[in-house]
Amino acid sequence: MVDSTERWESVISPRLAEVRGRIERACRSVGRDPAGVVLVAVTKTLPVEAVQAAYSLGIRHFGESRLKELESKVPSLPNDAVWHFVGKIQSNKAKRIASIADVLHTVENDRQLAEFAKVDRTLAAFIQVNIDEEQQKSGIFIQDLDTVLSHVLKSYNVRFRGLMAIGRQTPDPEVARESFRKLAGLNRQIGGEWLSMGMSHDFEVALQEGATHIRVGTALFGSR
Ligand SMILES: *Cc1c(COP(=O)(O)O)cnc(C)c1O
Repeated sequence: MVDSTERWESVISPRLAEVRGRIERACRSVGRDPAGVVLVAVTKTLPVEAVQAAYSLGIRHFGESRLKELESKVPSLPNDAVWHFVGKIQSNKAKRIASIADVLHTVENDRQLAEFAKVDRTLAAFIQVNIDEEQQKSGIFIQDLDTVLSHVLKSYNVRFRGLMAIGRQTPDPEVARESFRKLAGLNRQIGGEWLSMGMSHDFEVALQEGATHIRVGTALFGSR
């Protein structure tokens, strides 16, 4: 099938309405203002036409997890699009990522920071925490948070904004609640103002537990 922007708009439009409804209901259930939620549309593996369609429907925050894709998509949107990097940041690619992404969700070590420092721009950053200490996941363990935070706070062009985590991959979103709550508590303790947690299947629970940034792919675009 042809990847036209118009066709993607007809795919995304009803899905976006549904996602916005879910955000609104989740926020209302805990007395939060849905206007304070940043919806990051995760466009990894999707064609440029899908990204452009999402933009024309009003989305301004985009998430990518690979440098190549990020580099190919950034020029396709106007300057007011905000690009979030949500994938693992290998230090040999960190400098190029830092030169085009605006918000990094996956900071975890000082090798990355040393590479970011070579770029003359200020970046907003989340530290990724492997909250359930799952072997297959990236992110630091809680016990290392103080050390990594102190490195980030010392870096001259990376601004610490909060913590990020990925919930357990299970069909029941309630399973992630306790971990999300734990992350929110840690984030408060260390003065994080933003909190990145919640994906297509569990963002309501994340919002109820205090997420400011939710990272949503499948619910907006269909399965990859
Ligand atoms: C792919 C991805 C998402 C989006 O996942 P969906 O389940 O499609 O919403 C969110 N966060 C990260 C880190 C991802 O890699």
